[in-house]
Amino acid sequence: MNPFSKYNFHTHSHFDDGKEPLEDFVQAAIEAGLKAYGFSGHSPLPFDNHWSLPKDVLPEYLAEAKRLREKYKHLIDIYVGLEIDYVPGYSENFSQLMDSCGLDYGIGSVHLVMKPGSKDPSDIWFIDGPREGYIEGIKTIFGGDARKAVLAYYMQQAAMVETQKPDIIGHLDKVNMHNKGALFDTASNWYRQSVDHLLDAVSGAGTIVEVNTRGVYSGKTDDFFPNNDILKRCLDRNIPVMVSTDAHHPSQVDRLFEDGTKVLKDIGFKKITTPFFELDIS
Ligand SMILES: [Zn+2]
Ligand SMILES: [Zn+2]
Repeated sequence: MNPFSKYNFHTHSHFDDGKEPLEDFVQAAIEAGLKAYGFSGHSPLPFDNHWSLPKDVLPEYLAEAKRLREKYKHLIDIYVGLEIDYVPGYSENFSQLMDSCGLDYGIGSVHLVMKPGSKDPSDIWFIDGPREGYIEGIKTIFGGDARKAVLAYYMQQAAMVETQKPDIIGHLDKVNMHNKGALFDTASNWYRQSVDHLLDAVSGAGTIVEVNTRGVYSGKTDDFFPNNDILKRCLDRNIPVMVSTDAHHPSQVDRLFEDGTKVLKDIGFKKITTPFFELDIS
């Protein structure tokens, strides 16, 4: 593959919380010159929500994704995956889920933070909805202690990486999206240490860190997930990295892809590693 080929492995369609059918993403990807494309619908969850694949829709999603993989194979390499939520006590074992679905890859992500030690669904903090809910969760679930909440987020991600070994870890510092510098200090020792602990786990598991461009193009953050400081620490540990656009609409298949690649290059990364190929960006 050409070193400057475009690819994207993070996609949500009308099957989960994105817009438009999977085939529209494939056509948009071909048009934009992408050489490889992956689908990553949100894995089904055992409780009501408005964003993950309903369990009874999963077979249809997989069948359609596999049909497109075959139909377009002369034009683009298609990969079938899921963005799998890790919720201790609730989520399925990743490799069992991947085997039963016949997946090519999985992105492991934490959107729902379980209060440590609890199994009560009302103790789940949703970091990805509106900011009011995020702040309310810190108040009611973590007694107003943002530090406790954020530590739980990073511990849960580390446990996911250690026990489930996902191919890719999704938007590694998304917990900071609603912070706006107001609720906790990302320069504090405890924050840096919890990130370090996670990065050690990521390094040990051989998991790829994605640079997720969605926070920036959706206007929610100024930095990609994770930010440049964390990416530098990934480089220090030789952690493999790739760019993801987390497309929720066909117009987003390559949104800020080049900017994401440039950030990695500027930090000093010499190559991109996806679950399926490497690209030299030196
Ligand atoms: Zn996600
Ligand atoms: Zn996603």
